[in-house]
Amino acid sequence: MVVLGAGPAGLVLGNLLLAAGVDCVILERAERGDLASRARAGFLGAETVRILDRHGLAEGLHRHGRPHAVCEFRSEDGRFRLDYAGLGRGDRHTVYPQQDLVADLLAQYLDAGGRVRFGTEARAVLGADGDRPTVEARGADGRPERWRPRYVAGCDGRHGAARRSLPPQAVRRRHRDHGVSWLALLAEAPPSLDAVGYAVHERGFAGHMARTPEVTRYYLQWQPGEAAGSWSEERIWDELALRMRAADYGPLRRGRIVQRTVVDLESDVLEPLRHGSLFLAGDAASLLSPSAAKGANLAVLEAELLALALVDDLVHGDPAGLDSYSAACLDHVWRAQEFSHWMIQLLHTPRGTGGAGGEGTGETLFHDALRRSRLQSLRTSRTHQDWFAENYVGL
Ligand code: FAD
Repeated sequence: MVVLGAGPAGLVLGNLLLAAGVDCVILERAERGDLASRARAGFLGAETVRILDRHGLAEGLHRHGRPHAVCEFRSEDGRFRLDYAGLGRGDRHTVYPQQDLVADLLAQYLDAGGRVRFGTEARAVLGADGDRPTVEARGADGRPERWRPRYVAGCDGRHGAARRSLPPQAVRRRHRDHGVSWLALLAEAPPSLDAVGYAVHERGFAGHMARTPEVTRYYLQWQPGEAAGSWSEERIWDELALRMRAADYGPLRRGRIVQRTVVDLESDVLEPLRHGSLFLAGDAASLLSPSAAKGANLAVLEAELLALALVDDLVHGDPAGLDSYSAACLDHVWRAQEFSHWMIQLLHTPRGTGGAGGEGTGETLFHDALRRSRLQSLRTSRTHQDWFAENYVGL
């Protein structure tokens, strides 16, 4: 078994296969040290924690992660908080940085005797419609390598080799560019509020999410195409404070900005998630906008489904799980896509990109009015709040 990519999807899969005695190797383009410094997700849903618990992979998360269950919305109509542990199914998030989860999963896999080829880039998966696909790779020493496993799991993200290797006629791609960009920031600053903050402002969205007691992630809706480095730190903090209405609700705790990345909000799903002996999981299978913080959670869920199906096939000779893998994942994928899409509509003003705003056209004014009405419904309707909570923490 060859797994491409040592992100959350590839490492959960690798750990589960190893525990079941399935021989596998993970090919990872990056060096080990780079994996532990790649800050991305931080909010793990209740089902993700249950999956990791089930397989003994949650020790670090329980030791260092923090439960979280409140979000606060701010807009021109004031602010309100939702304590979602008291809504829906009563679930909460665990805040645990993705790079720490990846480091835990990697350490556990290597300690159990798992093999990872760091610095090895998969180039192509060939012959996936037959019984013995070939993975062509470039090893850490720059030499070409060829692997001939029974199955290949493509967990190598959106731009990986697995996706590229799929013949266009074998899959259907559903894609949406939401036309919105975010500047994703990591600041060496303690969180400024005890909640996830979602601020809707005529100049654009701003978000606040705790990562650790010393580090906070912020988001700023950003002019598409504008470079990440084009604003000074002071201008970024001033804009965050303005959009988060710090003058009304309390100042932001400022600190050094240590990471800036422009994220274009896009959704992308391939169907089916299998082509012969090649399976896709995580971002390789479906890309979500980070508006609802679902990507890493889906990656873990898909990795468990794939691992169980592979073990059934390779150890017990039962291919049924592999046959239904794609359909089972896509149910979850589309629910997550739908909720992420709803969040995008809720949080953005069509005019907001840090510009002056202006009066707007009839269409943008209509969109703004709908957004306000949605937020008002979320503020006042218990049914709507239960729906939100269930989708926000769950999959
Ligand atoms: P990845 O984490 O991308 O891992 C893929 C691995 O494959 C990488 O290690 C890469 O080096 C390797 N690779 C790539 N190409 C090759 C190749 N050709 N050969 C070998 N190896 C290769 N999700 C949440 O659930 N909650 C959040 O709060 C959240 N916040 C986010 C914030 C930001 C700013 C961003 C950008 C994303 C966020 N996400 C969040 C999404 C989440 O980070 C991803 O969905 C998640 O990383 C997907 O995991 P993965 O294992 O599929 O892919």
